[in-house]
Amino acid sequence: MSDRLPLDPVNTPGNGGDDPGAPPRSVTRPVDWDDFREHLATATRDGSRRWLYPRQPSGRWYRWRTWLSWVLLIVLFTGPFIRIQGNPLLMLNMVERRFSILGRIFWPQDMILFAVAMLAFFAGIMIFTTAFGRLWCGWTCPQTILMEMVFRKLEYWIEGDSVAQRALDAAPWSARKLRIKLFKHGIFFALSFLIGNTLLAYIIGSDALLQIITDDPRQHWIGLGFMLGFTLVFYAIFARFREQACTFICPYGRFQSALLDENTMVVAYDHRRGEVRAPWRRDETPDQRRAAGHGDCVNCHQCVVVCPTGIDIRNGIQMECVNCTACMDACDAVMDRLHLPRGLVRYASLNGIQRGEPLRFTARMKLYATVLCGLIGLFVFLVLTRTDLQTTFLRAPGSLFQTTAAGRISNLYTVKVINKTHRDLPVEFRVENLPARVVVPGAPQLIAPGDRLVQTSVLVELDPGLLPGPNTPLRIGVYAGGRHIETIKTSFVGPRS
Ligand code: SF4
Ligand code: SF4
Repeated sequence: MSDRLPLDPVNTPGNGGDDPGAPPRSVTRPVDWDDFREHLATATRDGSRRWLYPRQPSGRWYRWRTWLSWVLLIVLFTGPFIRIQGNPLLMLNMVERRFSILGRIFWPQDMILFAVAMLAFFAGIMIFTTAFGRLWCGWTCPQTILMEMVFRKLEYWIEGDSVAQRALDAAPWSARKLRIKLFKHGIFFALSFLIGNTLLAYIIGSDALLQIITDDPRQHWIGLGFMLGFTLVFYAIFARFREQACTFICPYGRFQSALLDENTMVVAYDHRRGEVRAPWRRDETPDQRRAAGHGDCVNCHQCVVVCPTGIDIRNGIQMECVNCTACMDACDAVMDRLHLPRGLVRYASLNGIQRGEPLRFTARMKLYATVLCGLIGLFVFLVLTRTDLQTTFLRAPGSLFQTTAAGRISNLYTVKVINKTHRDLPVEFRVENLPARVVVPGAPQLIAPGDRLVQTSVLVELDPGLLPGPNTPLRIGVYAGGRHIETIKTSFVGPRS
């Protein structure tokens, strides 16, 4: 990478600007490598990537995050196998367009419900981010949890701490290095395979996944292809891309800057307390230090060496910061050693640091909260008014009327019934606007199995004297166990005279 930044083309004297007809030329200026805003924290001057070797954090925040991570990892990996009334806890089967959320099956016909739920989810994220910044990223995002609590810990276990890792990477290839690297990447690949399979189970369901694993592989080329594809993607993310997944790929990280304001709670360095930075002299007392105009930051860089995204939190809120709290733990440990109060790096808002204001429920948050409440209200209304059955009742394509032996006119219909409940339901159809008979061929009654779609053919028979014309509107009542569920409209064709 060049160390000069391109600027927008400008028409200035000496840059084509003297001659209004001359085309504008680009100008460049040198990158200020001391200004963190002008370059990526992980980019070197020659444009290559600076591989990060963050030191393993320790402290109360890391401990709490570890406990929470264990809980979330258990939920993540068991989620597709947990069943509620026989349905997965969460399944987003795009292929069959069948979705299960908290054990309730949603069909493509429930798309409006799904869309409202998604809108409520995003409104919730906006409100949450406006109030609490990237708390999600640091504490609950699967990428952060898997990277920092699983892959990174395994790396510390296999290769040693950050100093040992750096030394190993710098060392020439040897049998030992090859052995360590093969062992580490073997484990990383196996874990990626497990994660890829879990994702697949969330998409197609655990039963379908087990079928792919246990059946003849020749019957599941596509499934196996996805299995391998997901494995390679996760392996690339955790073995190679790492923090780049958060800084370059994750859309949430990109739009969060539009949501944060000066009242948002973030991991922040208290510059009023920390500046002016200066190393701590052994013979120095806190009073002498203050008299010299120095703050509590002793410029030890402990908050920087633990950062998994390679930034310096003292530069202020930065796009790369995933609010993982590692720098809070590192700085608290330094403050403890110096017998200074903890919290030089802490959860705080900009206004909290500059003006000592507590976290506030701002007008923006109130607006988002109102929208969120409206969406949740709409979602609850749609769920409560969702019918047990959803029926389509269409005349069989290409069919006309028939005359029965008894002289009645019959039409053939194709009926699809989605049973949205967990239990099997006996379904009955009654023509409500005419005295007609509805016949389900081959069965005394149609049974719609729970959480399934059933399709069948149905005959409607009418006395020809009742037909006002060649095309008669029909209103069909759908009943389940004798209870009226819905009324659907269709038409009945008969002879012209
Ligand atoms: S760990 Fe604390 S004292 Fe050390 S450089 Fe960071 S902010 Fe300053
Ligand atoms: S600056 Fe602190 S909170 Fe942000 S990513 Fe780095 S270590 Fe984590």
